[in-house]
Amino acid sequence: MDNNFIDVILPIPLEKLFTYSISDAGAALLRPGMRVAVPFGKSKIYTALVIKLHRTPPIAYEAKEIDQILDESPLVTPIQIQFWQWLAEYYMCSLGEVFRAAVPSVMLLESETLILRNQSAVIEEDTLNDDEFLIFEALQHQSILRVGEISDILGKKNVIPILNRLLQKNIIIIKEEVYEQYRPKLIKYVQLGKDHTSEENLEALLNSLSRAPKQSQVVLSLFQLQATTKKPVKLSDLEKESGSSSAVIKALIDKEILEEHFIRVDRVVYEGDGEHSPLKSLNEYQQTAFQDIKDSFDAGKVTLLHGVTSSGKTEVYVKLIEEFIKMDKQVLYLLPEIALTTQLIARLQTYFGEKVAVYHSKYNAQERVEVWNNVLGKEARAQIVLGARSAMFLPFRDLGLIIVDEEHESSFKQYDPAPRYHARDAAIVLGNLHGGKVLLGSATPSVESYYNVRISKYGYAQIQRRFGDVLMPLMELVDIKEQTRKKRMKGHFSERLLEEITETLENGEQVILFQNRRGYAPILECTTCGHAPQCPNCDVSLTYHQLRKQLRCHYCSYHIAIQNSCQACGSNTLNTKGFGTEQIEQELHTLFPNAMVGRMDLDTTRGKYGYEKIITSFEQQEIDILVGTQMLTKGLDFRNVNLVGIMNADTLLNFPDYRAHERSFQLLTQVAGRAGRTKKRGKVIIQTYNPDHRILQQVTTHDYLEMFNEQLYEREQYKYPPGNRIIKITFKHRDYNKLNEAAEWFSKSLRMGFGEMVLGPEYPPVARIRNQYLKHVLLKINRDHSLIRTKNSIKKIERSFNAISNYRGVRIIYNVDHI
Ligand code: ADP
Ligand code: ZN
Ligand code: ZN
Repeated sequence: MDNNFIDVILPIPLEKLFTYSISDAGAALLRPGMRVAVPFGKSKIYTALVIKLHRTPPIAYEAKEIDQILDESPLVTPIQIQFWQWLAEYYMCSLGEVFRAAVPSVMLLESETLILRNQSAVIEEDTLNDDEFLIFEALQHQSILRVGEISDILGKKNVIPILNRLLQKNIIIIKEEVYEQYRPKLIKYVQLGKDHTSEENLEALLNSLSRAPKQSQVVLSLFQLQATTKKPVKLSDLEKESGSSSAVIKALIDKEILEEHFIRVDRVVYEGDGEHSPLKSLNEYQQTAFQDIKDSFDAGKVTLLHGVTSSGKTEVYVKLIEEFIKMDKQVLYLLPEIALTTQLIARLQTYFGEKVAVYHSKYNAQERVEVWNNVLGKEARAQIVLGARSAMFLPFRDLGLIIVDEEHESSFKQYDPAPRYHARDAAIVLGNLHGGKVLLGSATPSVESYYNVRISKYGYAQIQRRFGDVLMPLMELVDIKEQTRKKRMKGHFSERLLEEITETLENGEQVILFQNRRGYAPILECTTCGHAPQCPNCDVSLTYHQLRKQLRCHYCSYHIAIQNSCQACGSNTLNTKGFGTEQIEQELHTLFPNAMVGRMDLDTTRGKYGYEKIITSFEQQEIDILVGTQMLTKGLDFRNVNLVGIMNADTLLNFPDYRAHERSFQLLTQVAGRAGRTKKRGKVIIQTYNPDHRILQQVTTHDYLEMFNEQLYEREQYKYPPGNRIIKITFKHRDYNKLNEAAEWFSKSLRMGFGEMVLGPEYPPVARIRNQYLKHVLLKINRDHSLIRTKNSIKKIERSFNAISNYRGVRIIYNVDHI
């Protein structure tokens, strides 16, 4: 050994890098960004990442030797490592935690990883070498094996390179990557041929078919179906309605009297022929915004594109992407997970074809590694990456442009586990590291971003009109207090809302109804004694789910069957309080028995394609009324929706959080934006007990500026962002008393340094989750104060805290810029 060492990141929450020794040969091969398998602790093997090669032995311990080099060339770039270091420092976590979050888990095999056989792989046994064959065989006898167990089977200490090969060959998969298989299906639709659509032509057509009664029956049925539903007609429906066989229909198709077409349910995989559509030419407002963005980029600024819903922001992004692609740059297009729909993917693919790659947590390991490698190789196949927040961890070489669409979305902030980063803010840092440009887009910008425009930190471009001169939807507030008093409500529907739904359905148009709660009712309460069933693991009432006849906890997976009498007093006068999407769906079945009703919430969209399926069937107009939670708000472009109803705006406004008003404005404006995206002016009905509430007035008059100014004023008063920063510190433990004492001690220490800028400790609204008690402390930091110094003081307090044996086991979680 000639004093060759490497510093590595281990994918665990250690404060420091770890040092291992390597041979001369190793030193010649290794470069930063390559992976090595290393022993750690008594018997564990981890995949670690090389950060630095050097010749200084560690002081506190004897450096162990590495087991094996895993890569021939770096998988991670120097810019990525710089980015991770920034994340770890800014968001107060370890580099190891960032490493674990940043790379696909198949790149991180360790002794505890669970390995399975890939059931769908076709395997030719003679292509396997002895070790590979032994593993393959072992997995036929035992369906799951730990990497450590595979070591024992092969009698080798380090098997990670062999497993990496098997992963590449697709012969094995790792446990958390078992994902749902779903085959998209084609649905066949029929319509009258072009020459036969008018009434006169129809008559001529029926005459010509007078000697083919079965065929004319089909034509008549089709005509009727189209007249009543005003929708594309499914082949299966036509068969049923006309009572004819598919042979009769086929004969009509052969004669070109009918036309058939398919609508694909799944369109994620690009199967185009390489022909791309030309870009749409921008209208004057888009053109102005486009030019403003470019000028602002030239001035070196992050830029906010503030364009009302349906103003054509996406087309502006497309135009920008084209320019950066021409300059041979890579482009990253970030969206909130839920807004990453096949609709948008297909739209980008029509312009850029196979250049568009998608990176999504629901994709399997193979797909993710493929994108990783393509980005690393700066391949044309992944020049444009469309993804949720984790896509920013890809190994970009030359990132020219980052677009953060729907930048106001709070789901850009990672909540758990660490790093608890905000993808929008981190994107700005990433853009800087690459010398690239960053564009934020929204119809309802966050108060933070708009504030940054105000203080000239960001550039600004706007589009105030919807594309094609479509008017902003007409907003109407309906006072349900008044309606309830006069006993005019049917269930949760006011007369106005019912009228509008009826008219919309009669016109063959669709309706979206928004209720920000899932389940049937949040609470089942005894009217005799007031008892409401609680979750035994969390401090929260159970939610009533009528369809499954269950009471469920929305914080853990606890659920019980519905009881008929009160558990406290035995009375059977149980009543529901509040209402969720399930109840609205049920009321609709009674109120509109002929309408097809769909529901979109967490309960109906589980699984890789759950969400997609509902969107597609709404798009294909198989659903007339779609009831949903805030999942409905995200960038969906439905052509035939003319009415949006908000069932109850008050639950949003009354949320105990300093952002509740900003969020309500954003949410309501975004949902409203789903109405009337084509020529006809859409309508929005907002039901509320407080029609005079400022935020509701601002939403109905589309007055973003007034909302911004009022919110900014309030936040200045109470020292919240954007004028100040906040760090939320959460304490967590099973023991109530221990937690209380610990949180008290910590906040007292903080107060010595920061005085009244420390709030709490306080219990959150749900103070116990999965049997862990929670307490929060909020620290506000004035913009003029050094964030680094503040964090160092906190860390110092934490070190003293850790030395107190009484508080051992209490978890401390930092959430910087908590939202
Ligand atoms: P936003 O992202 O602002 O909500 P979109 O980009 O989805 O708006 O545009 C709304 C609709 O207008 C889409 O159907 C889009 O295809 C259409 N559109 C936007 N810009 C143009 C354009 N320049 N030419 C033709 N159609 C456009
Ligand atoms: Zn009771
Ligand atoms: Zn629970």
